[in-house]
Amino acid sequence: MSNLFYQTKSARPVLDRAEGIYMWDTSGNRYIDGSSGAMVSNIGHSNPAVLAAMRAQMDKSTFGYRLHFQTESSEELARRTAALAPEGLNKVFFVSGGSEAVESTLKMARQYALTQGQAQRYKVISRMPSYHGCTLGALAITGYAPMTAPFDPMMRAMPKVPAPRAYLDGLDPDDPETGRHYADMLEARILEEGPETVLAFIVEPVGGASTGALVPPEGYMRNVRDICTRYGVLLIHDEVMTGGGRTGRFFGAEHWGVTPDLIALSKGFGGGYVPLGAMVARDDIVEAVMQAGGFVHGFTYAGNPLACAAGLAVLDQIEQHDLTGNAARMGAALTDRLRGLMQRYPLIGDVRGKGLLTAFELMADRATRAPLPKELNAHSRLVDIAYDNGLIIYSRRTRGGLSGDHFLVCPPLIVDETQLDEIAGILDRSLAQFMTEIPAPAGR
Ligand code: PMP
Repeated sequence: MSNLFYQTKSARPVLDRAEGIYMWDTSGNRYIDGSSGAMVSNIGHSNPAVLAAMRAQMDKSTFGYRLHFQTESSEELARRTAALAPEGLNKVFFVSGGSEAVESTLKMARQYALTQGQAQRYKVISRMPSYHGCTLGALAITGYAPMTAPFDPMMRAMPKVPAPRAYLDGLDPDDPETGRHYADMLEARILEEGPETVLAFIVEPVGGASTGALVPPEGYMRNVRDICTRYGVLLIHDEVMTGGGRTGRFFGAEHWGVTPDLIALSKGFGGGYVPLGAMVARDDIVEAVMQAGGFVHGFTYAGNPLACAAGLAVLDQIEQHDLTGNAARMGAALTDRLRGLMQRYPLIGDVRGKGLLTAFELMADRATRAPLPKELNAHSRLVDIAYDNGLIIYSRRTRGGLSGDHFLVCPPLIVDETQLDEIAGILDRSLAQFMTEIPAPAGR
């Protein structure tokens, strides 16, 4: 009997080792890591150069408290991160994960408002559905009732606007009017709340766990930027999942040429080698807060030399092997394969994504977008079947809203075409098996 407990109901096999896109359990079974864990292991497992860099750092020091020492690796990683960030965002604050990165953006935004004499600004608008982390601050801006409901009385209710799920609302995502339509809802909400009370709007450039690789409709990101600027609302990009090259650009928002005020980064930034995350912020925001007495925030393990040395080595891999470019190319190739499956399985109602942040969604009826019955538990059943067939994928059912069972297929950015064939082959077999389990007429 294990002393550990997590959410999963059934115990999983014990992990033995991992290399590249593959993982092995202690019984010798091999799995393709088709979701990079939770979209984390972007450069693949056990990369020798990263391990060597970590060993070299370990031989020198593993921890130096940030208020006692500067370290070479944290200075250098901050410099490299700022160089990759949009112009004007050169200030980096290290943390150990995505929730911490998001919390940091919220608190930096709030302290900045105080320096501007805008103490009445505290509301952070986010989207429904959305996921921004599990700490209470990040949870308050998360739009996903199964995770937020138990804690509602402990959190300040924050305003939500609908995520731009054009495919569910029967709107054309390529029509700029669609992007405007969803952005208008943000503007209406800001006006309803009172613009002088709204601190920030937070958005994932490409949706992750909650919306399953939702790509914003044409014009949405630009309109959102303009609206935030108009009302003095800070724009936060949650790039925890999209950052680090996964979407085919280093930052997901680069696809739309939009510059936020604050960015949250994690997951692929540490690549699964160490817990690592960062907030990247506009210079003048940080300068104002520092001049006013400093940022009242910080985590003990933040910016430790080992994590930063690993982060630097991960960045080297992304840049030296053009993994961002490979994500764009392999993302297109994976999308083609998923579209091929969509032609053969009417159950697949949508295929979407950018780069290797790719997903498909199961529906009972493509035309009406009707979801599969909840009792089918498709989101967990198909994942289990694929797992038994040697492929790990990541799923969510964001019901309560509109979306159905979606599945993120997000292998490490080092994946090649042959491996994509292998992934598509296992998905094909797994879908066929799933079809035999569900009663007609669902999906047929
Ligand atoms: N933001 C986004 C967009 C995420 O996908 C996640 C993790 N799924 C988080 C924040 C929280 O990150 P963590 O689990 O590392 O705290």
